[in-house]
Amino acid sequence: MSAVTLSTPLRTALGGKANTLLDKHLGLQTVRDLLRYYPRRYDVRGELTDLARLAIGDDVTVMAEVQTVTGRPLPYRFHHNGKPKHLLELMVTDGQQALRLTFFNQQWRQKELKPGVRGLFAGRVREFRGKRELSNPQYTLFDADSDAETVDSFAGTFIPIYPATSEITTWQIGRCVRQALDLLGELPDPLPPEILATHGLMDLRGALEAIHRPNSREQIAAARDRLTWDEALTLQVTLAQRRASAADIAGVPRRGGGGLLTAFDAALPFQLTGGQRVIGTELADDLAGEHPMYRLLQGEVGSGKTVVALRAMLQVVDSGGQAALLAPTEVLAAQHYRSIVAMLGPLAEGGMLGGDEQATRVVLLTGSMSVARRRQSLLDAAAGSAGIVIGTHALLEDKVQFAELGLAVVDEQHRFGVEQRAALTDKAGFTPPHVLVMTATPIPRTVAMTVFGDLDVSTLRDLPEGRIPIQSTVVPAAERPDWLDRAWRRVREEVEQGRQAYVVCPRIGGEPESAMQEEPPGDGSESPSRAPLAVAAVAAQLTAGPLDGLRLFILHGRLPGDEKDDVMQRFAAGEIDVLVATTVIEVGVDVANASLMVVMDAERFGVSQLHQLRGRIGRGSVAGVCLFVTDAPAGSRARERVDGVAATADGFELARLDLENRREGDVLGAIQSGRRSSLKLLSVLRDEEVITQARTAADTLVTADPALDKHQALSVAVAALVSTEQASYLDKS
Ligand code: ADP
Ligand code: MG
Repeated sequence: MSAVTLSTPLRTALGGKANTLLDKHLGLQTVRDLLRYYPRRYDVRGELTDLARLAIGDDVTVMAEVQTVTGRPLPYRFHHNGKPKHLLELMVTDGQQALRLTFFNQQWRQKELKPGVRGLFAGRVREFRGKRELSNPQYTLFDADSDAETVDSFAGTFIPIYPATSEITTWQIGRCVRQALDLLGELPDPLPPEILATHGLMDLRGALEAIHRPNSREQIAAARDRLTWDEALTLQVTLAQRRASAADIAGVPRRGGGGLLTAFDAALPFQLTGGQRVIGTELADDLAGEHPMYRLLQGEVGSGKTVVALRAMLQVVDSGGQAALLAPTEVLAAQHYRSIVAMLGPLAEGGMLGGDEQATRVVLLTGSMSVARRRQSLLDAAAGSAGIVIGTHALLEDKVQFAELGLAVVDEQHRFGVEQRAALTDKAGFTPPHVLVMTATPIPRTVAMTVFGDLDVSTLRDLPEGRIPIQSTVVPAAERPDWLDRAWRRVREEVEQGRQAYVVCPRIGGEPESAMQEEPPGDGSESPSRAPLAVAAVAAQLTAGPLDGLRLFILHGRLPGDEKDDVMQRFAAGEIDVLVATTVIEVGVDVANASLMVVMDAERFGVSQLHQLRGRIGRGSVAGVCLFVTDAPAGSRARERVDGVAATADGFELARLDLENRREGDVLGAIQSGRRSSLKLLSVLRDEEVITQARTAADTLVTADPALDKHQALSVAVAALVSTEQASYLDKS
């Protein structure tokens, strides 16, 4: 047999039986897969597992000592086919807590399961008569001289406990791992020697040995460091190669020069901020380049991303191309349409009497538009008479065609799936368009470098001048009901001064319990047990009580599209005083005269949601006030989160707070939908330093050796990463 390598199929290395078990239950197919199936924890020989922590429903493996054993026949009604049933009941202990184990018709186990014997017991925890138990658990015992495997399994002090299932136990996995380690031939190291030396990392074989058969905690830690590096470097090399090959793809340069942008700039009623100017130049250069732009623009809420994007769109129109702007909601698409048409003025009246000579046409395309208007928009997009096409996901449908799509702008990216972005890109035919992705939710550096590793990033930090900071206050309604009364009086005062207010609720109302929220909070809120407050109910209460006489309207996602649009327009026109809404207003809505926001049940929203919501006010030159109403008790995690948002308006600071409040999977899950099966140790929460160093190292490597000809082992590891399902998300992001 040829030597076993990491790429050897498990069937060849370990035989059909082991392969079936590992593939079927754990999805492992090669020696690499198996050896990268790391222990979840290590038990120390002689130390028992803390039984207090076992949760009902978990598949667990515990090290415990048998305390009592009782065997008895079951009453006649449990007999089967005339054969008596026997119940063997054990209590095992960790020295403090006890756990019940039960076996049916297995009297013979009494011979080996004796009081004082220690072993590993595996099964699913269930509750029976108020006590936790494992029913028919699998087990393996220490010092049971009858079982040779057992002796082999527990040769060391540290016993690796693998993530197991009810079909395969940790010691079965461990046995396969040890067998594979013993068979493994020469093992080329994917990490170049310079990297090992610079970062003081152990070699691959040493690391695999140490993580599966450690002799000390220090060894385990060193092995994890090294194997974390493997993941970081392979990922970064993949992304570096992708960046390098993107730089080879030909795009259509859009150098501008048609006069539309110049005319727009001349008519702009304000000065661009420093950041807007710098990023404007970056985008202009990208668009003029030979390769498609692929850039992420992240900017503080209210920092003026729309103008930046619009100027880029105008440059493309000036070069004979079209631009598409994709918004996450109809409300936002319609608003973008109105504000862009307003900003452009006569420049948006192409082909119309009174329109400017340079003018283009801007069209809107959403699902709820009338058939006639839709048809006209489709025609304008396909014929090229519309320079700018604004829409929701309706833009992605097959029947939408562009004459010459040069730039796709995706606003508020966090609401968009990667597939949708890809579909938009496809509309440009064979030559990919330039792509600008915008987000007001700052993306932590580590996430930007992993999930968005092949995008260039621009960051807009400064706000337009003259903005007065928003004042945020937490209103603990349960403790201080008088504060809530004051909040409503405050709404009246604002309205009396000619200004407007939002009241935001977590729920629409009138729907079944299961559909309670339009958008679940991003970070696992802990809420009081009552149902979340609903738009309909709150609006009714306010009209009947504290806000009686004010022009109060509601807005939520279930209203028909034209009604939503109508309400939004009237709010923008100042014909509505108070808008009671769900998070439909969360992103992008821009009404400068709205100065006050009251968020009900604030603890039910995630950190970035609250920040986004708050960004709807204080957009003009009046001071904004945001009141976070909550019943969450002082000191609770939910309350701390709300307090945290109230305490700072810095989106980047909040992004960090948000990250701390989430679990790893949520962070990646919120941003991309792919499974992260190839990242086992690397954490975007903890491993910023490794990610940064690996990125630099990857750039150096790929620049010097683009095809990795001189780094064969690394090249193989990269290929393995790319071939996993993980690659599908890397491709699209
Ligand atoms: P966001 O970055 O949150 O999308 P917007 O693009 O909606 O922000 O801009 C917020 C508001 O600020 C808009 O009303 C816009 O017209 C205005 N604005 C943008 N840039 C400037 C500027 N340089 N000076 C003054 N107002 C600006
Ligand atoms: Mg915006």
